[in-house]
Formats: sequence, structure tokens, C-alpha cells
Amino acid sequence: MDSEKHCPICQSTALRKEFVGVKDLEYYSYGPVDFTRCQGCDVLFQDPLPPEELIPSFYPSNYRNYLVEDKPSLLGGLKNLQASMFAKNITKHLKNPTENKILDLGFGNGQLLLALSRLGCKNLNGADFSEAPQHERLKQAGIRLAFSNFDKHFPYSENEKFDCIILNNVIEHFLDPVKVLKLCKTRLSDGGKVILITPSSDALDFEIFRSAWAGFHAPRHTFIFNHRSMAELASRSGLRLSLTTAFNDPGQWAISCQSLMVDANLTNKEQLKNGLAPYTVPLSLVFGPISIIQGLTKRSSAILSICS
Ligand SMILES: [Zn+2]
Repeated sequence: MDSEKHCPICQSTALRKEFVGVKDLEYYSYGPVDFTRCQGCDVLFQDPLPPEELIPSFYPSNYRNYLVEDKPSLLGGLKNLQASMFAKNITKHLKNPTENKILDLGFGNGQLLLALSRLGCKNLNGADFSEAPQHERLKQAGIRLAFSNFDKHFPYSENEKFDCIILNNVIEHFLDPVKVLKLCKTRLSDGGKVILITPSSDALDFEIFRSAWAGFHAPRHTFIFNHRSMAELASRSGLRLSLTTAFNDPGQWAISCQSLMVDANLTNKEQLKNGLAPYTVPLSLVFGPISIIQGLTKRSSAILSICS
């Protein structure tokens, strides 16, 4: 390994390649990628990091996080339930959630913003890379939207401050997560908080599925954090990490099973719709109880961190 190479989070040069050839078994958008673990802070990162100009091609038009279900469906219902539970969780951590100015950075299809709106939050903002027709329903709900590549340019002026900035399964997608969090810090009001959800490499399911683990979501996830590396990320970004707790995600188990099946040719990739096999969503219900038990330990599928 290149002796000059260092960890993009903590700058340590003690690096070890841990995964070679992690495939995109959901969308087949890109060739297999490798992941290196930093011995200093324990973060896993794509090595090499993907070329910036290729990244848009990792998100096909059927990428499920952008989609809005037209008809009632099990997936739509579960996603809505998850968004509602997460919204309730967020409001518990805010002093005055109905009045607080909240920004969902990388809002995807906007389900979380709508769930916060249903809870009475009135000052809601969403930022994402590009505008889509399905964003109309968010505007109708009074949610203010902005669009830009916030890896480089924060979509609001320096004078605009937020009481809460949410990165819901977003921080693991960037080429420079420290830079993004530093930018977030400059846009926090006094006492403002950054709330992050991200897959955790401390997860029990990571240990079981290894390169088929859904948390890799390769090549879209560039960094995989855990309790230790999240603390390092916050500190390097000038933020104070006040809490890291379990965030249950039974869907991650189901997608990991699906990826094992696809890789073994037991599920044909032609059967995948929006990156999901017909059995994957029902299977996530089966994993619900495991996910809840796992959430009682430090080995949850994902982690929720609060920084200020
Ligand atoms: Zn490191």
C-alpha cells in the first residue's frame, strides 16, 4: 500500500485493506470496490475513493430513496412508519420542535420532512442535489426546498442558521464527510444540533454478511462509520458528540440476505425492482424482532448520533 496514504478522517497512516471486490448487487451501477480500515479511528472507507465525476451514475432513476409510492404498498407503509418513528425520535431531542428551524440535508423523497410536518413542525427545510417532480407535494406542505451539491457548496447563505440539521443516511455518501460537517457547524444556531443516522460496522449483521452486508451499499457508500469512528468524525469536524445510540434497521438484514441470494445466482438480478427482490420487504418484517434485540446492544445495524 502507498506509504503516503492516510485516513481521510483522522489522517492516520496505519491502514489495512479489509474488503476486496465489494459488488453493487442492487443496481449494478459500477464495478466492485475495495474498502480499507483505518487502525487509528476504525473507519472503513472506499479505497480508492470513486472519481467525483462518476458519482451521479451510481444513482439510477429507479434508485429507491428518490421514489414516491403512487399506490399503498407494504414498502411505502413501512417506510412511512419508519419516518414517523424517526421524526418522533428527533423531536424528543429538540427544545421547541414545532418552532425550531429544521434542515433535512439530503432529504431524498421527503418522507421524514412530511412526518415532521405531521408532528406540527412548522419551520421545515430540505436540501438535495436536484429537483424532481415528486418534490411538489413537499412544497405544498409548506416545506422550503433548496438544491445544490452541498459536498462543495452549502445551499444557504452564511447568515442563515438552523436549530437542527439532519443527515439521515447521508454522511456515508460523501467524498469528504469532515468538510460537510464543518460546513454544517457554521450553519448551526446557538445550541443547535446535528443529528446523523448511518450504518454501523459494529453491527451484528456486518459480522454475519461481510461483503454482502447491505450497509456497504457499494459503490454509493464511501465511508462506513461505527461508535468509535463517529466520535472521531465529530471531533475532527469541531463538533461535540453528545450521544450515539442504536438505530434499528431490519431492512438492512433483508437486503443483505437478498445480496447473498443475488451473488449466488439464486435470485436473478432481472427480478429486482428498484433494487429490491419481491421477497425482500416481507423478509424485513421477519427480521424486526432481531433488530429490536440488537438495538439493545452496541451492535445495532445503524447508529443515531447527536452533535452540537
Ligand atoms: Zn482514521
